[in-house]
Amino acid sequence: LDSKGLEEMVAEGQMVFERIAKLNIPTVAAIHGACLGGGLEMCLACDYRIASPDKSTKIGLPETSLGIVPGWGGCARLPRLVGLPNALTMILQGKRLVAKQAKKFGLVKEVVPPEHFERWALKLIHNGKPQKKSFWKTNNKLSAKFIASRVRPQLQKKTRGHYPAMFKALDITIQGLSLSIPETLTLERKALVDLIQTTTSNNLVRVFFMQERAKHLKMKDVSIVKGWSESSSPIPSSEHIAVIGAGTMGAGIAQWCSARGKRVLLKDISLDAIAKGMAAIGKVYHSATKRRTFTKTESRAGMDRIHPSHTDISLARTDIVIEAATENIELKRKIFKDLEASAGDQTILATNTSALSITELAESTDHPERVIGIHFFNPVHRMQLVEIVVGEKTCPDVTARTLQFVQNIGKMPVVTRDSPGFAVNRILMPYLTEAGHLFAGGASIIDIDEAMLDFGMPMGPLRLLDEVGIDVADHVASFFGKAFGDRMPAPESLGAMVTEGLLGCKSGKGFYVYEKGSRKDPRPNPECTRFVKSNAYVNLNRKDLQERMTMVMLNEAARCMEEKVVSSPQDIDFAMIMGTGFAPFRGGPLRYSDTLGISNVVDALDRLAAQESDRFTPCAVLRSMVIQDECWYPADRKHT
Ligand code: NAD
Repeated sequence: LDSKGLEEMVAEGQMVFERIAKLNIPTVAAIHGACLGGGLEMCLACDYRIASPDKSTKIGLPETSLGIVPGWGGCARLPRLVGLPNALTMILQGKRLVAKQAKKFGLVKEVVPPEHFERWALKLIHNGKPQKKSFWKTNNKLSAKFIASRVRPQLQKKTRGHYPAMFKALDITIQGLSLSIPETLTLERKALVDLIQTTTSNNLVRVFFMQERAKHLKMKDVSIVKGWSESSSPIPSSEHIAVIGAGTMGAGIAQWCSARGKRVLLKDISLDAIAKGMAAIGKVYHSATKRRTFTKTESRAGMDRIHPSHTDISLARTDIVIEAATENIELKRKIFKDLEASAGDQTILATNTSALSITELAESTDHPERVIGIHFFNPVHRMQLVEIVVGEKTCPDVTARTLQFVQNIGKMPVVTRDSPGFAVNRILMPYLTEAGHLFAGGASIIDIDEAMLDFGMPMGPLRLLDEVGIDVADHVASFFGKAFGDRMPAPESLGAMVTEGLLGCKSGKGFYVYEKGSRKDPRPNPECTRFVKSNAYVNLNRKDLQERMTMVMLNEAARCMEEKVVSSPQDIDFAMIMGTGFAPFRGGPLRYSDTLGISNVVDALDRLAAQESDRFTPCAVLRSMVIQDECWYPADRKHT
């Protein structure tokens, strides 16, 4: 559609909802299931709203997270119903409310199960007072101006200007309070038509579709797995899970699986670790109950589905074992040998390792075809991405069952080949090590981190290293140094910091100082100056720093495609956005390479390689793409 066509389409929707709003009979919207965006805007045009307490009921306006504004009356009608502060929370944060929260906001009149919808609707029509509240305190011109003056700088700080839709939505919502509904609809329509045609919005919409794709990914779409053939019998579901290791990850995985109805055996060799793990699980359930994601009964039932143990128990009836013990190949080999002995013939033997080779681990068993990686990210209850790592001998049926399991527990899978760092850490690590090199060469901590915040990353790389733990990062960097040689040399500064006890957040000091253990607004650590080895990068400005740290990611992402670590460019982009927060509005490293132009990427890498070192040399696939005039997403070429 061109601008005119788009405007007509938006106007038509607005007109339909206006006609609903103007009906001279009472209207009640009954909400059961997802009621997002246009769906909610239709409900807002009704006189009353009732909603079911069902888990599937989610009410919100996610448009700004797609780079657009609510265009069918969301900005116009919502603040009149729930007050300006609540409306801004929903519009700017894309908050999805469960029915009870929606009632608290004043968005729905009653929370009732669907079987009582009709009775309640009739009751409202006959007896109900209009579902209107007086918001004279917040919805007047003066308060609105004051609220806007507070919200705008917060938005600027959070988005660094990369999400123009948020500012547009804020302006329209505020202005709309002094305008009529039709006048506000005109503002919505104009803004929507402009925004929907931007690269930012296109990329954010693509992220949405990539998420949908992951939720419904089929084995036939996973080209890196050979020999899979669709069988007529359905893939058996996995209901009984065992998790080995009750540390950070094991406890997180056990909590998540139990919350999705799975029975979980949680085993650790240490009683203390089990107690701590169960306490951590209790905490996650507790805060989910507070946020009304679960009722108290549901949380208790979830906890009851976890069976903690520190002794060996038969795993014969277990569908999937997920090993999440300490990262040590010898220890894991032994665990896998033991697991094989106690598991059933069909039990999948999975590991949550971040870096060890699945194929190597599989060799310690007599059934390497049943071994696979299920790489959850930390913290498990927040991170939706899971890498499914296929070893050389992993049987396609095992991959298919694992894929189904990951989707069934509500995570979003990316299937990768077994190669160092899989997909996410493989691309993230050169970026983090580059930040380490720049720091050792005299670039300031603030400049390095701010450069990447400006790019759109959720956290600067040095701040992220502190979060990961400098010791863990040093270990992984050495592993990558060995795996990829000169191309990924580990920065010496990390090792030196570990020796001096600067381990990041967990020790209170790393690149930053965390006063009283607080992770909020840490200040750069002045002690770090002694790990600066030269002044080679002192004069680089933030743009230069950003270019170096970004280019290594684009190059490594291309290498992953060259080595067929994943099946498609979308897998890389999706994994990086979901696993690392790679600026979503840029669409992922490969999409961003297309936006820049592959030949420009190669030129920049060549220039940096000439100035610096081979670690910037563009990979063969990028060079060949330039010669062939190719890009990662040929179907979208005319748009980019
Ligand atoms: P952790 O140190 O918090 O927990 C490891 C647990 O394993 C400890 O409680 C320990 O007692 C237990 N354990 C050791 N040997 C055992 C055995 N023989 N049987 C049963 N339990 C045993 O470690 P973690 O951070 O949870 O990491 C676990 C795994 O997950 C590692 O492979 C790691 O690479 C991977 N991983 C970690 C993260 C992360 O951010 N922490 C992210 C993704 C993957």
